[in-house]
Amino acid sequence: MDASPPAPFAAVELVALTKQYGPGATAVDAIDLRIAANSYCCLLGPSGCGKSTTLRMIAGHESTTSGDILLENRNITTLPAAARGTAMMFQSFALFPHLSALDNVAFSLKMKGVAKAERLARAQDLLERVAMGHLAQRKPGELSGGQQQRVALARALITQPRVLLLDEPLSALDPFLRVQMRAELRHWQRELGLTFVHVTHSQEEAMALADTMVVMNHGRIEQVGSPHAVYNRPASEFVARFMGGHNVLNTTAGKVAVRNDHIRLAPASSTGWPATVQDVEYQGTYVLLGLALQGDAATGPVSVMLPEADFVQRPYAPGECVDLSWDPAQAHALAA
Ligand code: ADP
Ligand code: MG
Repeated sequence: MDASPPAPFAAVELVALTKQYGPGATAVDAIDLRIAANSYCCLLGPSGCGKSTTLRMIAGHESTTSGDILLENRNITTLPAAARGTAMMFQSFALFPHLSALDNVAFSLKMKGVAKAERLARAQDLLERVAMGHLAQRKPGELSGGQQQRVALARALITQPRVLLLDEPLSALDPFLRVQMRAELRHWQRELGLTFVHVTHSQEEAMALADTMVVMNHGRIEQVGSPHAVYNRPASEFVARFMGGHNVLNTTAGKVAVRNDHIRLAPASSTGWPATVQDVEYQGTYVLLGLALQGDAATGPVSVMLPEADFVQRPYAPGECVDLSWDPAQAHALAA
């Protein structure tokens, strides 16, 4: 008997989804992905890896070259954007500055010819759901960034989508607002019980938000997993380097990734790997050391994060020779 639990119901399923912009220009290369219903999924990867193209194909703003897109088991690959059950939230919210919050939210219903009384009632109802009902008459310029984001959310939700698609929604915001807004997005995803698919190039943002992270590179998926799984068990050298916080080392057992907080320092001439301290950066709770390994084991400089209290007890200075070691159980083997 098969004891494995059934796969969670997929809100979105991509099957060998491919986009070629021309000969030799494959932006998305036969990707397969299941996004669980009511989950927060982040598509993560460096600029140009195919995140936006994937999202736009799901939205119906970009045609597919081959492959299929399913939404709740319905094949939507060739449906027009408005008939898919998806909605898009754009960077910087893209609200109409001359319209009230209420009219912004009601706008797409107006375009569909829904009668005024009905569209305003539905827009007001959605603004209430995102705790903005009392500010319905304000224009975007009279609202804070957080309030504008809620209006943009209500506007995206007016078409009753099953899946909300967000393309770098926070990247134009200043760092403080960005952290505040991502907490809001996470809150509303849970509160509304919808599936969010959020594109970002920031591993920090993806780790903070995602139930499932999808790490992409050159139009392909490198790894899918929870932030914890991806951070602790990067599948490839690319993922280890892109996620940050890891050292990629050539050991006798092969290439491994070791988290920079899992490397221990000891005085030189003991039994570890000899290295020289190059930089010392104070980071508050941690001190980050940059080291050069003597020999050719490292594929670049090695970084080590020491808790501040450990560093205060035993400081290290540039030029100092040390030995590095780690628990072999903390060395994660990387696919060749
Ligand atoms: P990301 O969102 O991950 O930064 P994109 O999906 O926008 O990446 O782009 C993936 C690749 O496809 C890039 O090489 C980009 O230059 C190319 N590309 C994107 N849009 C077009 C287009 N309309 N025409 C031709 N090439 C495109
Ligand atoms: Mg993009």
